Amino acid sequence: MGADCELEIAQGTRCGIAAYERCAECRRAFCRSHQAWERTPDGTKRVTPIEDWCSDCQARSDERAEVRVAANQSRIDAAKVRIVVLIQQLDAAGFPGAAKRNIAETEKGSFGRTKTVKTEYDPAIPIGPVQWDHLYNIPREGWQHSSDRPETGITRRGEYVVMDPRLTRAGKNWMAKGHNFIGICAILEDHARKYLPGLRRSLLLLARVRYWIRLLRPRQREEPRPRTDRH
Ligand SMILES: [Zn+2]
Ligand SMILES: [Zn+2]
Repeated sequence: MGADCELEIAQGTRCGIAAYERCAECRRAFCRSHQAWERTPDGTKRVTPIEDWCSDCQARSDERAEVRVAANQSRIDAAKVRIVVLIQQLDAAGFPGAAKRNIAETEKGSFGRTKTVKTEYDPAIPIGPVQWDHLYNIPREGWQHSSDRPETGITRRGEYVVMDPRLTRAGKNWMAKGHNFIGICAILEDHARKYLPGLRRSLLLLARVRYWIRLLRPRQREEPRPRTDRH
């Protein structure tokens, strides 16, 4: 094509190299070196050139995507903070609506009799099925990994627990990454609306004030760490 590349290489200075194509988005002519490329998923290596898109428009699009990811991340962060506040408010009100998680198991006693052994666990507010991963050791077979989605809840200490403690395997159990904090927060909001009527407002206010005081109190600075658990 007869035009020169119209992309700016500096403020007010155009590239000027013989153009190769015109961008479908911004309609400017661009040269081969100002062409957009499809890249590997990590964004580091070029794979194939994109015929009708310039590198400027691609960079802007990447930026928008990053902004979207950051906005989503801040919604998740806000949900995490809100979950802490809701748990504190519910705790201050006596943790209403929490389900008991105590279990009673029969064991063989002496002389052929059976006895019932009761174990008490912290009650928890149910938040629905959540994916858990388990790592457990089987003699002679070694470490096994499995995952499932048992009914899960949050205790008044903010701990995530399996509602039926018998489902927790011996070994290592942990909630799978990438669980839906925004969804969990919505469930707790509903729970709080249901169980915290207007009479308890003063308690809520107190809990909130206590929470913010705790949050605003100067804390020891932590060393910056690379973030690995992006949800
Ligand atoms: Zn363009
Ligand atoms: Zn150019």
